[in-house]
Amino acid sequence: MNFPSSESIDTLFALQREFFASRQTRPIEFRKHSLERLKQAVLDHRELLYVALDEDLGKPKGDVDLAEIGAVIHEIDFALAHLDEWATPQAVPTPELIAPSQCYVTQEPFGVTYIIGPFNYPVNLTLTPLIGAIIGGNTCILKPSETTPNTSLVIEKIIQQAFAPDYIAVVQGGRDENTHLLSLPFDFIFFTGSPNVGKVVMQAAAAHLTPVILELGGKCPLIALADADLDLVVSQLMFGKFINSGQTCIAPDYLYVHSSIKDALLARLVQRIHQDLPDIGSTGKVVTGQQVSRLEGLLSLSEGKVLVGGQSDAERRVFSATVVDQVKWDDALMAEELFGPILPVLTFDSVDTAVDLINQHHPKPLAVYVFARHTQSATPIINHIQSGDAQVNGVMLHAFSPYLPFGGVGSSGIGEYHGRYSFQAFTHKKSVRVVELPDKPV
Ligand code: NAD
Repeated sequence: MNFPSSESIDTLFALQREFFASRQTRPIEFRKHSLERLKQAVLDHRELLYVALDEDLGKPKGDVDLAEIGAVIHEIDFALAHLDEWATPQAVPTPELIAPSQCYVTQEPFGVTYIIGPFNYPVNLTLTPLIGAIIGGNTCILKPSETTPNTSLVIEKIIQQAFAPDYIAVVQGGRDENTHLLSLPFDFIFFTGSPNVGKVVMQAAAAHLTPVILELGGKCPLIALADADLDLVVSQLMFGKFINSGQTCIAPDYLYVHSSIKDALLARLVQRIHQDLPDIGSTGKVVTGQQVSRLEGLLSLSEGKVLVGGQSDAERRVFSATVVDQVKWDDALMAEELFGPILPVLTFDSVDTAVDLINQHHPKPLAVYVFARHTQSATPIINHIQSGDAQVNGVMLHAFSPYLPFGGVGSSGIGEYHGRYSFQAFTHKKSVRVVELPDKPV
């Protein structure tokens, strides 16, 4: 793939500045029309997306329909239905101190925005933020991940079909192009990716005091209490841990299970893996051979006991669904976010100690999942582990509700989006006070 020169990126940035200054992005009708164009372009490229996502990540069509195309279309439809309401300035009461006057809050676009996408859900995680940029009335440069080149090219085609580049454009590139883009005085940056690169983005943004939203990762625990429904835990792990070969930011990273149910739970899980994910490539593709080697390295250093899986092939970019029992907090598998189809299993006896150990070793994860028949017993756990989001008796699907803000806290991110929260993310809340003057006598 050819990456653009710094000069052509600068020219594009200047064109977007000019287009934003022309005020054409402001009318709500323009924004809605843009959403319609985006929707049509995504649907027109459905077949190309299936092929590209299969080549890049081995994604089955059903997963593409759910978590890539479907998620984007759903957000577009929701925004179309609600944008008028979100964009209406909100009148607020005037305190006596500053009366008489009228006060309201209006949400204005930031200007030229920059969205940096990760590889794992490359369509969803570039285009869903883009919906925010559009409904906020901004222009936007998008940089998809260089590690999913086929999908990134289709994303570029989608954007080219729908928009002129002075309004919305794709810049292909990796670290060098991103470094150059980050040196530009964008009005807002939306980054999805790893915490380490998040720090790079925030540091670069600081030079221009550019506001950022960072959607990062971390180690999300799945905690199974003594009264958890075993079949439910197994089915949610099969879905959450192994979809997209474990490369999901809100995937359960590790299983933390009460000792009284561990053996029964693991027996069922291992049996389901033998049945449903029997082959080395059953979970899809790992994004690069280096990532397979990284997982191989972590597994080889682990002192846990492999119950199932452990096979890999870096050349074919595959890693089998793997469960590792008897893992301790200082194990290699617990050092970093796994982002692969390896499930370490840790055991607890006391819920309070379990909560403390999670907070001590991997604080503020992107999501926490608690499984319990009596859901009341899950509430204190959720309340005592700070996290981006949480679920009781389910995994990941909270990200599919446009009514729920999606985002992390601390090392799992800053800010949130989806639905109305995307509108808020991509706009500045501007307070306005108006003092009416009496008519002047003629
Ligand atoms: P990454 O941080 O490696 O890359 C993200 C983007 O940053 C890419 O576009 C890449 O080109 C660019 N980049 C990489 N290194 C850079 C550097 N040194 N300087 C400048 N730019 C650089 O992330 P990834 O591997 O694509 O995605 C995996 C990570 O993303 C995981 O940590 C995962 O948890 C996280 N993630 C978070 C969410 C969320 O919504 N919170 C969603 C998906 C993925």
